[in-house]
Amino acid sequence: MDRKGILVVVSGFSGSGKGTIMKELLRRYDNYALSISATTRSPREGEEDGREYFFKTREEFERMIAEGALIEHACYVENYYGTPRAYVEQQLGLGKDVILEIEIQGALQVKERFPDTLLLFVSPPDAQTLKKRLVGRGTESMEVIESRLARAVEEAQGIESYDYFIINDDLDACVDEVHRLIQGEHSRVSRSMELINEIRTELKEFQ
Ligand code: ADP
Ligand code: 5GP
Repeated sequence: MDRKGILVVVSGFSGSGKGTIMKELLRRYDNYALSISATTRSPREGEEDGREYFFKTREEFERMIAEGALIEHACYVENYYGTPRAYVEQQLGLGKDVILEIEIQGALQVKERFPDTLLLFVSPPDAQTLKKRLVGRGTESMEVIESRLARAVEEAQGIESYDYFIINDDLDACVDEVHRLIQGEHSRVSRSMELINEIRTELKEFQ
């Protein structure tokens, strides 16, 4: 029996640990495909074009929008971010569970276009831990950190749009939970209607 891939969105405040969780999830399991976004923000130290992001100029990004090459896009703290369509469609076709690590405006666009998307929201146990992690990561200036914390206030208002709220305290436990929720989603009745109808037809043959 073919198992269809699930489209999964993982959102969370900047510094909540999304990137760290995704890295560990992909290291442990091989049925996940992580979409690589396009962005106009500059690469952080150690980031490579085509690995963490496809780094684009504003003009290049706007051309991608115009060509319909993105499933969704949004502006986040003065930069564009968006999900290239081709990879997502290809990987879902191969039966992979495809993960989009994106912010809330993009998440809502994806849910509208693909209503059976699973939406996960990751949070640190408390706000102090968030600030500590962002500062500790050491990749942004204090000014950008303040903007990201301000954005977190807005994002916190949108959490009800998500299916699950996941605390990233102990990393291992958090990765387990993300995996369990995605795998559990495969058993949802609405995702197996084809098979259910086949079984119904077969059962009638006993009558
Ligand atoms: P995001 O992708 O959500 O912006 P990161 O994955 O970059 O967040 O994590 C932010 C910082 O917090 C990183 O320095 C990372 O090593 C650290 N971190 C992530 N998860 C945990 C955790 N469970 N416990 C402690 N530190 C964590
Ligand atoms: P960062 O600059 O820390 O890598 O990402 C900033 C925010 O942009 C994070 O919340 C991240 O999830 C989000 N993001 C990354 N890629 C995309 C994308 O393709 N689309 C949208 N809408 N948000 C994205």
